[in-house]
Parts: sequence; structure tokens; C-alpha cells
Amino acid sequence: MLFESKTVTVSQPNQGIVELVFNALGKRANVFDRQTLQDFSQAMDILQSNLPKGILVKSAKTDFILGADINEFSTLFADSASAIRETVHLLNEPFNALEDLPCPIVAVIDGKALGGGLELALACDYRIATNSSHMGLPEVSLGINPGFGGTVRLPRLIGIDNAIEWIATGKSYDATNALAVGIIDALFTDEALEAGALATLHHAMQHPNQYQQRKVQKKSPVKLSQTEQLMAFTTAKAVIAANSPRHMPAPKTAITSIQHNASLSRESALEIEADYFSQLAKTSVASHLSALFLQDQALKKATERLTEQARDTDTIAVIGAGIMGGGIAYQAAYNGKNVRLKDIAPQGLEQGLQEVRSLLVKRQQKGRLTPEAMITIAQRIQPSLCDEHCANAQVVIEAVVEKFSVKQHVLTTCEQTVSASAVLASNTSTLSISALAQDLTHPERFCGMHFFNPVHRMPLVEVIRGDKTNDATIATVVKLAKDMKKTPIVVNDCPGFLVNRVLFAYFLAFESLLREGLDFEHIDHAAIEFGWPMGPAHLLDVIGMDTACHAASVVGEGFPERLSVPSPSALQCLHDANRLGQKNNLGFYQYTKHKGKLQKARDPQAYTVLAECMPHASKAL
Ligand code: NAD
Repeated sequence: MLFESKTVTVSQPNQGIVELVFNALGKRANVFDRQTLQDFSQAMDILQSNLPKGILVKSAKTDFILGADINEFSTLFADSASAIRETVHLLNEPFNALEDLPCPIVAVIDGKALGGGLELALACDYRIATNSSHMGLPEVSLGINPGFGGTVRLPRLIGIDNAIEWIATGKSYDATNALAVGIIDALFTDEALEAGALATLHHAMQHPNQYQQRKVQKKSPVKLSQTEQLMAFTTAKAVIAANSPRHMPAPKTAITSIQHNASLSRESALEIEADYFSQLAKTSVASHLSALFLQDQALKKATERLTEQARDTDTIAVIGAGIMGGGIAYQAAYNGKNVRLKDIAPQGLEQGLQEVRSLLVKRQQKGRLTPEAMITIAQRIQPSLCDEHCANAQVVIEAVVEKFSVKQHVLTTCEQTVSASAVLASNTSTLSISALAQDLTHPERFCGMHFFNPVHRMPLVEVIRGDKTNDATIATVVKLAKDMKKTPIVVNDCPGFLVNRVLFAYFLAFESLLREGLDFEHIDHAAIEFGWPMGPAHLLDVIGMDTACHAASVVGEGFPERLSVPSPSALQCLHDANRLGQKNNLGFYQYTKHKGKLQKARDPQAYTVLAECMPHASKAL
């Protein structure tokens, strides 16, 4: 062993070939935290004084390297911009030292190579990967741009257009895509990776001109004339500006960084990158987006702990095959569950099945599902009108109409037919879980499982703990939600649970702005510029004014001192004028179908309704 540390080792298995292996001891994955960067730097000192003939850069973990350690961002971002620039500059040294070694270097990627992980691979001369690997530079989704040379090496390797797409969208791509654009040189099966790595390195060692040429290419300016560059950047900026929110500066700044460094050699180009990185790191967007990321990770860990003892579920029943029931059935079947779909009415069942069919067809048309897979998924769903149909389900999800007496009756009837270990869950949006449990013989095996509409697109599921719900029930339902590729959050039973309490505080703020005379269309526009997928008026149209009015009254009654909707409210005015939103194509906006898609347009009538009922509302037409 030439070098051994807590995160990096350097060994020389044979004939002058060295293996630089990232292996963070006691951790699940490799990340570039301070320790790893220090160890990497020391490993480079060793390699510079013991020059090998060739190097394989590997990971001993399931994934290659997942990027920088986001836990360390808040400390870094607290420094001044010039201190951040200096830190980034120093942290780049081992990457440059690796690239500068006078021997061929092959990155051997298995699993995910993200952010700094991919940037490490870019500092190598060749990159090979397993077919199942994924890679990308997701920094812009954290409000920053790459800082380990990504905006410098990637454009020089795959061209400006491709590099902009990879960097400014922050998406991660599979290995086939990476091969197609030229990031990866060759793909191997898991079994062939080891031999493939050695063969690639031996080939490179025998063809020194090739790897030397690669090093030169990555350190030189991009090979495009000024006019070609101007065209490429002008187009890219226009596309990104149209698709990224105004208050999310990272994608545009990343392009500017590429543009300003393109005609420079590596050292100067890296300075430009560090400069833009430090500017973005000082924005509140960057600190909030990285905090959000960390909270999301913490949530995932918490739910993982919860499910350690959870039972597996392979058959579920869904009672009530409406909008939500159909969506839940699809999502479960798509993720391998057998589904018993039960409704009281044949047309109800048909509505649910129709929802499943249309979702499957859409996926198939997008090329994400083969016809065979589509049939297999559809066959997992068995519809019926009989109560006994749910008998062998391990979890039953009730999704019938939002009426307390109907739900209570459905749940108590269902409890008679299912096994003694089955769990019951309700998809209620507004009813108390503890109250719904009152007539159950086993309230400990009952909880809420609140999906959002449309089920296949909305990631969150609230798992609601009633007074008597036991831990095993919560664990089973949380595990089921995860199996269905959702993000479960366990919440207490109170009016609005968690999401509606947050959402209605937001809607109340919206109502206040309307009362001050602001135009709802401007408010929607502003929300989009901050990165929301849609503004509050549009969202209320999607939810439906009847559903929203009902939910508003529930949270308002639950928390009268802070969540009461003022009267008259825009919500109530539109509801009373039978403008229910997308349900009847009239809400804050009017909707028409174009090529199967709903299109929204401004409707002067909505302003008239609001002006008549709320004297201070905007009369903008
Ligand atoms: P829906 O009206 O589309 O569907 C309800 C279905 O339940 C109908 O098919 C009806 O025939 C069936 N049904 C009624 N009584 C029944 C019974 N006794 N036994 C079996 N089936 C019966 O309603 P939805 O919008 O799908 O809402 C269902 C539940 O999901 C409600 O509790 C609602 O609050 C909740 N929810 C709805 C949304 C939404 O946006 N639609 C979002 C989250 C949660």
C-alpha cells in the first residue's frame, strides 16, 4: 500500500499500475468532504513523488462519488466571497495534480458519479462505466455552479451545447446517454468492468499520444471561433432564460461561467469558475436550496429508520375507484403491488380503470413502458363491486367520497372481511383519523394515508397517526408509500394535517394581496419567477374551488386565530359564481383543451366576479 487514509487508498497491485480508491470508512457512500479532499491531496503528493505508469481511479462503495458534502456548505457559504474563491481554488489543486500526472488515468465508474464525483472523472483521461451507472452535475439545483472544474473540462470534452445542457439543467443521465455525448469512452457489464478497466489502461499506456492529446485538449481553450461561441451562448441563454425562474440565478450564471472561461487555458478558466461559484454561494437561494436538500435527506433517513421493522405488503385493496382511487391503484400496480379495486358503483369502477388505462397509455406513448409491461401492470389490478374482494389485502386504502358517515361505514364493514393483521388507511383530506377510528374494533391498525392529486405526479404522502394508531401500522404504511416511490411524512392528526396547514397559510397571504388590489395573474407570475411550478390562483383552479373552500373551513375552524379565511374571500366568490376551477373549466382563469392538454387563458369575467364581491380586488382587464 502506497498510501492509506480514512477515505482514500493508493495501492500498486502490479507492473507500475496504481489504484487510487475512494472508500470512506464507516460511511455508506463517498462524498467530497474536507477529510476526503485532504486525503485526496495527500494521495496526490505520494503519486507525484512515485510516478506510476498508469492509474485506475475507483470507488469501493456501491456508487462512485456522490459529490461535495452538502453538510459543509453552510460553513463555506458563511465566508466572504473572496475567501470562498480562495478555498475553491485550493480544493481544485489535487484535481489538477491528477490531470497533470504524466501517465494515463482511467476513471472506473460504477453507480452514481454526481457533482464533484463526475468532476473527478473529468480530470481523468478516460472514463469507463457500468451500464447501470448514472452521472450528472446537479449543482444548479442547489443554487450554485460546479466548482471542481465542471464548467471548464466538460465543454472542452463534449462541446459547448452538450455541456450547457448537462450543467444548466442539473439533470443526471444514464451511462448510455453519457456514452452518446462522449463523456464515457466505453460501457461494461458489472462482471466485465474490472477487466475492461485494465484493458483500457493498457491500451492507453501503449498509445501515449492519445492520452497526452486528451490532457492537452482539456487544458486548452474550447475549439470554437468567437462567432460560433457567440451563436451557441446566445441560443443557450435564451432557452435557459425561458425555462428557468428569474430568481434562480444558477443556470444562467453557469452558462456565463462557461462562456467567460471558454477561450482561456485551464488555470485562468478555473479562476473564472471559482469566481462565479463564490458569487452564487453568497446568494440566499443557494443557502436555502442546500438547506432544503439536507432536510429532504433527513426525512429520508427518518423514514428509513421507521421502516426497519415494517412488514412487506404485496397485495393492497383500494376502496373507492374515483380520481384518487384510480391514481392510487395505478401507482401501486406500477410498482409491483397486486391491487383489489373496489367501488360501490359500476361507473365508479369504470372511472378508476379508465384513469389507470390513460396513465399507462401515456407512459407507453412516451416510450417508457413496453406493451408487455403495460399489460402486466394492468393485470395486477382486479376490479370488483363485492366487499369480500378485499379479504386478502394486507393494507386497505379507503378513498371513497369525503363524507364522515360513508367513510366510517366503509371502514367498519371492511374491518369485518380482512385478516386479523391487515392495516386500514384512509385517504381523507380533512376528516379526523381518531374520529374515523371510533367504531373500529382495532383502531390501532388504522391510520391516514393521504395522497395528493394527481397521485402519480405528487411525491408526498402524509401518513397520519390517530390517537390509537400503533407503531407497526405506521411502519407498514410508510414502507408501502416508499414501495410506491412516494415520500412519506408521518404527521399528527389535526385539522389540515401538515400540508393543508402550510398551504392555507400561503393561500391566506394570497387573499391578503388580492384585498390590497393586486392582480392574481401578476401574483402567479411572480410565484413562477421564484421557482414555484404554478402560482396560487392557478393552483386553486387545479384543486377546485369546492374542495378548497371545504379544506379552508376545516383549517379555519381548527386554527381560528391564525387560519381563518376573511369574508368575503376570492375563493368563496368564485365558488358562489360556480367558477370551480379546472373541474368546469372556469376559475381564476378559463380553460380549453388543446391536443388533449388543458390550456389556461385570462378571463375578464373572473375579474368582474371578484370586483363585484370584493370591492378592493384588482379590476385589471
Ligand atoms: P371521487 O368522487 O372521484 O371518487 C369517490 C369514489 O368512491 C366514487 O367512485 C364512488 O363511487 C366511490 N364510493 C362512494 N361510496 C362508496 C362506498 N360506500 N364503497 C365504495 N366506493 C364508494 O372522489 P376523489 O376525489 O377520488 O376523493 C376520494 C377521497 O380522496 C376523498 O376522501 C378525498 O377527500 C380524498 N382526496 C381527494 C383529492 C382530490 O384532489 N380529488 C386529493 C386528496 C385526497
